[in-house]
Amino acid sequence: MPSSLSLGRIKGIPISANWSLVGLIVLLSWELATHVFPSSDPGQSSIAYTAMGIAAAIGLIACILLHELAHAIQALREGMRIHSITLWLFGGVARFDRFFPSGGAEIRIALAGPAISIVLGGAALASASLPMLPAPIATTLWWLGTMNLILGVFNLLPALPLDGGRALRGAMWATTHDLARATRIGVQVSKIVAIGMMTTGLVIAMSFGNPVSGIWLALIGLFVLQAGRHEAAPAPPAPAPVTIADILRPTGVSLSADVAVTQIETLIGSSSPLTAIPVSDDEQVIGILPVAAVEALAPEFRSRTTARALMIPRGDLIRLSPTTDIAAARPLLATSPWGYGLVVDNDVLLGIVGPREINQSTANPT
Ligand SMILES: [Zn+2]
Repeated sequence: MPSSLSLGRIKGIPISANWSLVGLIVLLSWELATHVFPSSDPGQSSIAYTAMGIAAAIGLIACILLHELAHAIQALREGMRIHSITLWLFGGVARFDRFFPSGGAEIRIALAGPAISIVLGGAALASASLPMLPAPIATTLWWLGTMNLILGVFNLLPALPLDGGRALRGAMWATTHDLARATRIGVQVSKIVAIGMMTTGLVIAMSFGNPVSGIWLALIGLFVLQAGRHEAAPAPPAPAPVTIADILRPTGVSLSADVAVTQIETLIGSSSPLTAIPVSDDEQVIGILPVAAVEALAPEFRSRTTARALMIPRGDLIRLSPTTDIAAARPLLATSPWGYGLVVDNDVLLGIVGPREINQSTANPT
């Protein structure tokens, strides 16, 4: 059995419900039909209470979906993509394909949900007080209005991953421009709020004779405590390499011109990121030897071939400055033997760049 039930798409966003939601609707309908509505609106038939209970439970789920859609639609406006919306036991979760583009966007996306819930709550309460409305409908609307107000206000608690916690983190992020720090503070505040919810829930359950509400609040506090712990800031994207200096690896060692090319193996081990090594003669770099050139040579010739014989002479190589743009360097390197270039600053050799460095600079998505 799949863990969730697909409910279709709205604005292209897949909507699904966790199976726990079915249990929630059944339990909630039953609790409303047998306890809540008979005490708040006495004198109706049991069929009326059952209908009110089912309508109210399904209505509440629909309102939670509208809350999540408000987040999702605001996120679309902020240029984000929405992966999915899942409804489950504690409400709904809208999943985004990537992280919020800015603190301001996070605030607007976070507040869109509670704003809709509060508007829905106000509208339902206003409708419930309309004269001439049959009592069962008025009672159901009154309950839905109250629940939406609770949903809106509760979600504004400043605890991650609740909306209030996101808005708080977004505000700290927008003012300090430090997402990691904003998240750390947000997680600390969340812990305090979650422990407060659990304590309040247990006090309500034990001292005020309202075990269901108290345990519910304590469970949500526990959920916030657990979920908030995983609310880590995403690693900031590594800055895109722009110039040759950003991708330059110092070579460190060089090979003497008159030794066999097999010596390259002892100088740069198999774990080395280097793919070429300078060849020196009299302390002067006279060329470079790519590992690939050694590997291209038949093994029986390797011990008889000197670095001088196989190297690319310095004069044949493209010379680049560390400040050269990678984009500008790429076509130049394509014309250089084996795709290698020397990085030189004021006639001092700083290093070698080759195909691997250039390709890795484009492989890093940013
Ligand atoms: Zn929300």
